[in-house]
Amino acid sequence: MRSQDYDRIFLSPPHLGRHELNYLHKAIEDNWVAPAGPNLDGFERDICEFTGAGHCVALTSGTAAIHLGLRLLGVGPGDEVLCPSFTFVATANPIVYLGAKPVFVDSEADTWNICPQRLREAIEDRIQQGRKPKALILVHLYGMPAKVQEVLEVTAEFEIPVLEDAAEALGSRYNGQPLGTFGAVGVFSFNGNKILTTSGGGALVTNNSEWAQKARFWATQAKDPAPYYQHSDIGYNYRLSNLLAGIGRGQMELLEDRVKKRREIHQWYKINLQTVPSLTISQTEPTGGRSNRWLTTVILDPIQTDTTPEQLRLHLESHNIESRPLWKPLHLQPLFAAAPMYGGSVCEELFTNGLCLPSGSALTEADLNRIAAATKAVIRSKEAQ
Ligand SMILES: *Cc1c(COP(=O)(O)O)cnc(C)c1O
Repeated sequence: MRSQDYDRIFLSPPHLGRHELNYLHKAIEDNWVAPAGPNLDGFERDICEFTGAGHCVALTSGTAAIHLGLRLLGVGPGDEVLCPSFTFVATANPIVYLGAKPVFVDSEADTWNICPQRLREAIEDRIQQGRKPKALILVHLYGMPAKVQEVLEVTAEFEIPVLEDAAEALGSRYNGQPLGTFGAVGVFSFNGNKILTTSGGGALVTNNSEWAQKARFWATQAKDPAPYYQHSDIGYNYRLSNLLAGIGRGQMELLEDRVKKRREIHQWYKINLQTVPSLTISQTEPTGGRSNRWLTTVILDPIQTDTTPEQLRLHLESHNIESRPLWKPLHLQPLFAAAPMYGGSVCEELFTNGLCLPSGSALTEADLNRIAAATKAVIRSKEAQ
């Protein structure tokens, strides 16, 4: 660690509690140091209890969970899968792992998630071309619930199954129901920067017991029930370690507290940055939606200021404060240059004008004051220049 790292404010660092070590200690004492054991069972139970999902399979990453989830929905070579353009690349990569193709859809301006009208247009157009989409990946970006009801009305009408990428949205709700439980399959991530972490990890939830069984089977190399190693199906090594599941158990105890803290940080920014010209604390909750506020994001209005998000980022960096650009839309990525895209101006504009501020649940009042002071120091309204 460099000396300057000591006072660095990170974007969203891990925030451990007191009990993770107990679960780890017990696993080592009992020799459960494998991708099987009581912590793994307990972690899955904790996730089911919190979300109300019928079944949970703990995996090595959220990406692995999306991969298995899409396979459960029957996605295969040549299929098309609908996906918002405005998301992290890990949402879409598993589509390609399966030999399928992403079809991207623009965001709507309130939640920044997939636009239900654009989604309808995309589905109707693909069907007209004789290529009915096999599935939709519904993402809740930065923890913000998508317009779930509107989206599910469209997918139900066309009978398209939904995989919910709630990697950033553990603890968020819609009409009181935890996100991740609205789709046929839901996915969470426990990567190091998420609201809870196992250092690296993920989970798949579903109410379909056969699917849960199948996901577990694929995640452990798809071994046929035989005394020797026999395989009739392709599998993966995707099962979470019992050690990491122990960290997850300790973290799950803290979920409500972490959501509360992130929401308070969001509120703090809202109050204390409201006087900054041209800056808005962005993303609004849809009717019935309650975000975990995983990351607080800001938009700089280019009509009111010449300060760009990149100038703000570099200025914060000069004060040893980490911030990040919003996700670069996937239809603008060289990787997906050939993929169809429906709309695009909403997410392109958000990407151009936005920035993620430090939002970790361990931020102190002093940290927040430092971030606010540095932010205020660099943003100038046009008339003031
Ligand atoms: C983090 C993330 C993932 C992938 O999760 P990993 O556990 O890092 O593999 C998928 N989708 C979104 C939207 C994410 O933010």
